[in-house]
Amino acid sequence: MRHVQVQTTKNEYPIIIHHNFDLLCEHLVKQGVQGKKVCLITDDNVSPLYLNHVVKLLQTITNEVSYIVIPHGEKNKNLDTIQTIYEGLLAHKLDRESVLIALGGGVTGDMVGFASATYMRGIDFIQIPTTLLAQVDSSIGGKTGVDFDGYKNVVGAFHQPRLVYINTQTLSTLPIREVQAGMAEIIKHSLIESATYFKYITSHPREILALESEILEELIYESCLIKSKVVSADEKEKGLRATLNFGHTIGHAVERLLNFSLLHGECVAIGMVAAAYLSKGLNQISAKDFMAIEACMEAFNLPTRLDNLDPEVVYQELYYDKKTKYNALNFIVLTSIGSCEMKHDLEKNVIIDAIKYIM
Ligand code: NAD
Ligand code: ZN
Repeated sequence: MRHVQVQTTKNEYPIIIHHNFDLLCEHLVKQGVQGKKVCLITDDNVSPLYLNHVVKLLQTITNEVSYIVIPHGEKNKNLDTIQTIYEGLLAHKLDRESVLIALGGGVTGDMVGFASATYMRGIDFIQIPTTLLAQVDSSIGGKTGVDFDGYKNVVGAFHQPRLVYINTQTLSTLPIREVQAGMAEIIKHSLIESATYFKYITSHPREILALESEILEELIYESCLIKSKVVSADEKEKGLRATLNFGHTIGHAVERLLNFSLLHGECVAIGMVAAAYLSKGLNQISAKDFMAIEACMEAFNLPTRLDNLDPEVVYQELYYDKKTKYNALNFIVLTSIGSCEMKHDLEKNVIIDAIKYIM
């Protein structure tokens, strides 16, 4: 078992990392869940795999367990599904003292977080993330929400969970492509924070992709430490938290231009290669480091190149977020493997060169 403590200005909560669900109830009891009304919310892919088992465990600490199954996928991350959740919560008579539990990937976690931030003006919730991305990224930090009117995550709230319980074994049923996509965020953590961690990752691609239990636990622990350190220091993304956007400026643009046909992590991998190339162009990292970064993406079968996009179109797409965020184009660049900084004033040709590299 590994334990990481997240501490934000108003909240503190544990992340528990273990290779089964055996410690779940013990930690729920520590968070005061015993005897309370609990509603487990999961999607229709995850429910046949883990719902019954988790319901049975919960029934050992409370008599009032209900559940709601929502349709899976980003296309259902919207207010219609939130309405389905509210209706279920009312039908199950959940009150202000009740607790919601998100069992699933980032889509489920973001929506259950948002429902618990708003139902009865805010009730407690627990994250049980079951994708690699959710385990090292979306379940930590309290950003919750849904997509609206074609914009991703544009309606939401900050609402921290009371507990994040990670059972690494749930990854055994996750499609390998989703595991690889989750690795992109893990590689990102190492690139912005720790050269030692990057070395560890690049030394174990085979073991990691084979989901070897101990290595997986170590990896998820290191990434949770980095993510929780960053969000603890900067919960509302006023500065440091923006470093987590490394690879995401170009990554998000590519994701939208390809109409979400690639997974988020795959686009981030391409975006990280471009951002690393750009860092090399600014003489911030060496050619050798750049090659190591690209080789790392390849070792995890992540894409590093794109076809059929016009660099100018990609460049213009970088400004898309300005429509919702009203700020200048910020770009996270590496200053070495394991550290980064934000640039506000990059020249267009430097960015275009990096985009051309990934074509
Ligand atoms: P997801 O929740 O859609 O899960 C991916 C797929 O795997 C789904 O089809 C799901 O049903 C299935 N699945 C989940 N766990 C499984 C398991 N153990 N076995 C088999 N199948 C399983 O996607 P995701 O990649 O986990 O999350 C992406 C979402 O996370 C996006 O909406 C993104 O905006 C959000 N996100 C949020 C934050 C944040 O800080 N809140 C950070 C990053 C991403
Ligand atoms: Zn991401």
